[in-house]
Amino acid sequence: MVEEYPRNLTELEADFGTEEACRAYLARLRWPDGFLCPRCGGGRSWPVRGVLLECAACGCQTSVTAGTIFQDTRTPLRVWFRAMWWVTTQKNGASALGLQRVLGLKKYETAWTMLHKLRHAMVRPGRDLLTGRIEVDESYVGGEEEGLPGRLNLKKALVVVAAQEDGPGIGRIRMRQIIDASAESLVPFVRASVEPGSVVHTDGWAGYFPLERNGYPHEVTILKRKKKTPSELLPRVHRVVSLLKRWLLGTHQGAVSQKHLDYYLDEFTFRFNRRRSKSRGKLFFRLAQQAVAVDPVPYDQIVHPNRRKAKPQSVGVT
Ligand SMILES: [Zn+2]
Repeated sequence: MVEEYPRNLTELEADFGTEEACRAYLARLRWPDGFLCPRCGGGRSWPVRGVLLECAACGCQTSVTAGTIFQDTRTPLRVWFRAMWWVTTQKNGASALGLQRVLGLKKYETAWTMLHKLRHAMVRPGRDLLTGRIEVDESYVGGEEEGLPGRLNLKKALVVVAAQEDGPGIGRIRMRQIIDASAESLVPFVRASVEPGSVVHTDGWAGYFPLERNGYPHEVTILKRKKKTPSELLPRVHRVVSLLKRWLLGTHQGAVSQKHLDYYLDEFTFRFNRRRSKSRGKLFFRLAQQAVAVDPVPYDQIVHPNRRKAKPQSVGVT
């Protein structure tokens, strides 16, 4: 599909002034080769009452938003589109309070829920693994942060980060909250984030030792006579962690709870990995594209992410 996106706010307003225009755009993103029935795979449909599509083959009714993060929303798509625009065009992202103000939403919860759903869409299903040389290290986030103003309203949480080496700089990253620094926590993270055969560079912590037999050439750097600090040892990971902390303290003013931290890590990663993208509109396009590609997140699962996740209905009607 041709990448089609607004280049500025004026174009956004002109292109997405109606629910119909928003729905048509989402349909082009979701079904670039034309309608695909979620039940039978049929390719022909009839519109029903404007919003629904009825499959010509099996008669099932669906909509472009069913089975996406927009499922069951009571917020107009026009408002969603403006939220996506705001989130992707603000250099440091948006807080729920900021979004509520700019969209003129009555309830804070509406802005908060939209942002969490959008963060969910920032993780691309089946995204590529990092390749090349990868630094991996874990770090505590939360509480009083040394050298940074303010305080994270978050008990200490352990976050593991993988950062692709790009010369002296940083390529793409992945990160996740883990319960401890055991091999059982660290190795699955590396396997989910890094292509086997890539060199993984860590400190001398034993939790990383099984990497070698999991197919990763493992490079270990250990502190020699304490001449170097840990941040010099794995400088990329530590730069990422320090940017993450600044972002949590700045944009979100530290108001991030531990059970929701993963959503924030996803947003941070999405932004970081696209930080060199010159076109903000392209970020909007990516987010909209992913929003119709991921499963819906029920409100209950956003609020209580650690509860057993119910498999959402794949065929639903909004
Ligand atoms: Zn069908």
